[in-house]
Amino acid sequence: MNRSSFIQQAIGLGPQWQARSGWFEQHPAELDRQAMQLAQQQSSQPPTTDTVAIPAPAAVTNVHMPTPAMVTSETAAPSTLDAALAAAGVTDHLEQPLSSPQPLVELGWDQLEQAVANCQNCQLCHTRTQTVFGRGNPRARWMLIGEAPGEQEDKQGQPFVGKAGQLLANMLAAAGLDREHDVYIANVLKCRPPGNRNPAPEEILACSTYLQQQIRHVQPTLILALGRFAVQTLLQTEQSIGKLRGQLHQYQGIPLIATYHPAYLLRNLPDKAKAWQDMVLAKQHFSRLSS
Ligand code: SF4
Repeated sequence: MNRSSFIQQAIGLGPQWQARSGWFEQHPAELDRQAMQLAQQQSSQPPTTDTVAIPAPAAVTNVHMPTPAMVTSETAAPSTLDAALAAAGVTDHLEQPLSSPQPLVELGWDQLEQAVANCQNCQLCHTRTQTVFGRGNPRARWMLIGEAPGEQEDKQGQPFVGKAGQLLANMLAAAGLDREHDVYIANVLKCRPPGNRNPAPEEILACSTYLQQQIRHVQPTLILALGRFAVQTLLQTEQSIGKLRGQLHQYQGIPLIATYHPAYLLRNLPDKAKAWQDMVLAKQHFSRLSS
């Protein structure tokens, strides 16, 4: 399996978006919410308060993606994920055979964060200081997605700290966005690759369910993907940022703008102007989508 196929397997899923109040009517998330409601009406198993039992894909008629093998609690390193879920207090799924076509377990936000904190689904658990779940407002309209924690992020448990984080904060402020209130920031990987090496495909696969669930919870109006790995992972492509930036993309029906990672910009100052152009483009699309 080549890298592109591997990553497609990792993220090529069709979440059933459940839009919250205020979501504009014509957004794809709203259309999927209606599909979700229809599927739930057909199901005899209502969701619990802690977890949402998502109907089997065959019962949903309006999803964005086909139904490849899902990277979820059913398929991703069952024994270690079971341990993480158990540590997070989620035990009901353990009664079901992992190989059976049972509804997927969707964790609540706190449970998801706890599952990440206890995760041992890939080798990065052995070298991390701590996991880095995310930062900002989980109900923000903007979601920023980067690559993986670096050295400082690994120490502090927060994404985008240090000089790269300050540059990002400055760019957000210049665009009129507060990084703690107006955006939610997460990474593709929740643990630091040693020596800040590139993420390995199997690590992206192992970690993908967490980012997918974060996106489902946040339900952003727009995603700003920061850096090559985030962009290529979310868009399932191996094209360069240079070719992908400057246009509107979609991730599972959510508008996405690709731009450079702040750490890259610190080493390549001339590209700051391009990153600012990307931010302006994102703002324009956000305004249009929100009107
Ligand atoms: S990188 Fe992701 S999958 Fe790997 S141990 Fe950390 S949280 Fe788990």
